[in-house]
Amino acid sequence: MNPVDTQTKTAPLDVEQIRQDFPILRRKVHGKRLVYLDNAATSQKPQSVIDAISHYYSHSNANVHRGVHCLAEEATEAYETVRRKVCQFINGDDPNSIVFTRNTTESVNLVAHAWGRKFLGKGDEVVLTVTEHHSNLVPWQLLAEDTGCKLRFIDIDDEGRLRTDHLDEYITEKTKLVCMGHVSNALGTIHSVRTIACAARAVGALVFVDGAQGAPHGPVNVETLDCDFYAYSPHKALGPLGIGVLWARRDLLEEMNPFLGGGEMIRNVSLERSTWAGVPYKFEAGTPSVADAVGLGASIDYLMELGMENVRTHEKQIVSYAMERLAELPFIRFFGPRDPADRCGLVSFIDADIHPHDLGTVVDQHGVAIRAGHHCAKPLMHRLGVVATARASFYIYNDRSDVNKLIDSLLEARKVFGL
Ligand code: PLP
Repeated sequence: MNPVDTQTKTAPLDVEQIRQDFPILRRKVHGKRLVYLDNAATSQKPQSVIDAISHYYSHSNANVHRGVHCLAEEATEAYETVRRKVCQFINGDDPNSIVFTRNTTESVNLVAHAWGRKFLGKGDEVVLTVTEHHSNLVPWQLLAEDTGCKLRFIDIDDEGRLRTDHLDEYITEKTKLVCMGHVSNALGTIHSVRTIACAARAVGALVFVDGAQGAPHGPVNVETLDCDFYAYSPHKALGPLGIGVLWARRDLLEEMNPFLGGGEMIRNVSLERSTWAGVPYKFEAGTPSVADAVGLGASIDYLMELGMENVRTHEKQIVSYAMERLAELPFIRFFGPRDPADRCGLVSFIDADIHPHDLGTVVDQHGVAIRAGHHCAKPLMHRLGVVATARASFYIYNDRSDVNKLIDSLLEARKVFGL
C-alpha cells in the first residue's frame, strides 16, 4: 500500500464502523459499556490483528532466517515484509534501518548502550526534556553513570510546551545527543521536534525521538522530523504487545556496537571472538517475536487504510471537545496546551478534591477506563507540583459519547465523595 495515497485521502472516521472491528469493545465492565480511555498505555486490537497472529501460528509458524524449508521461508518473508511496511509507515527510505525490539524502552536502551557507550564520555552532554517518560530518561542516566557524560534538561512553559526561546543555553558545543519525546504522554503536548533538531544540527549533535505517543496518532516522517533515531511501541498503535520499533540512520547503525549477543546477530564465531552480521540483524539477537511482527503488519494496514491524517484530525476534534467539557467543571484543572493543534488526543487533569487514584476507581465502576498516577514521568509531576494526575487518552474508536460518559462519571465521583 502506498502510504502517500492513504495519508492524503481525507475522510472523517466512521467510529461506529470502527468499533465493530474491536471485539473487546463489545464487553461490559461492571455491567456497563466499556469506555476505553487508556489508549496512551496501550491500544485495543482490531480483529484483523488478532486474526493475523492466529493465522500465522496456524499456517506458517517457524523460526526465521534459519531453515530452508517452506514454513521457514514463509515466516521469514512475512517477518521481512513487515519491516518494509514499518519503514513506509514512518516514511523511512531503507527497510534495513528498521530494527525490531520488544518496545520503545528496549529501543532507547539499545541506542544508549550501542551508540552511547561507544561514542560518549566525560565532557560530553546529552540534552533531554523535563517531560520525558522514564523510558527515555533512566537509560540515559545509566549511560551518564557509566561514561561520565552529563545530562541537561529543557524546561517547559506554563502550558507544557518546551521552552525553545533559550535553546542555546542547553544545546551547546558539548551536546552530542538530544533525546526528546515526540509527544508527551503526561501532558499531550506535541513537541517541536524540528525546531530542537535544528538547534542540535547547528552544533553537530544527533537527535533521538521517543515516538511512543507520536507514531500511533498521526503521520510520521522521520526525514522531515530531521531526527537520527525514532522509536515507538506498536502496541499503542493497534499492534500486539511484545514488539517494538527502532528506526535509525543506516550509517549510525553500521558504526554502532551490538546490543545483545547471541544467535542470528553474528557473521562468524570462533571460540575466541565473533564478528557481526550486517544491519539490522546485528541488533536482533535470538529468535524474534515473529507472530507479533505479523500482527504489527496487520495493524499498519488497518491504520493506513484509515489514513493517519484522518486519525490525527479525529483525535484533535475529540480532545478539543473533551477540553471544552472539562472546562465546564470548576473543580477540574487540566494540564498541557490549550490549543488542540498543539496536543495529541489525551488530556491530563486533576479534581481539586479527589485523588486521581480514587477518581480512576470510581469512574471504572461506570465502565470508564482512565489512567491515574505519575504516568512514568515523575520528574514532570514534580515540575508541575502534583504527585499524580488522571489521564483520559483517546483513539480511533472513541467519540463524543465517550467524552460525555467520562464527564458523567466524574460528576458521579463527586457524589460518592459527598462533594
Ligand atoms: N515513551 C513514552 C512517551 C511512553 O508514553 C511510553 C509508554 O507509555 C514509553 C516511552 C514506553 O513504552 P513501552 O512501555 O512500550 O516501552
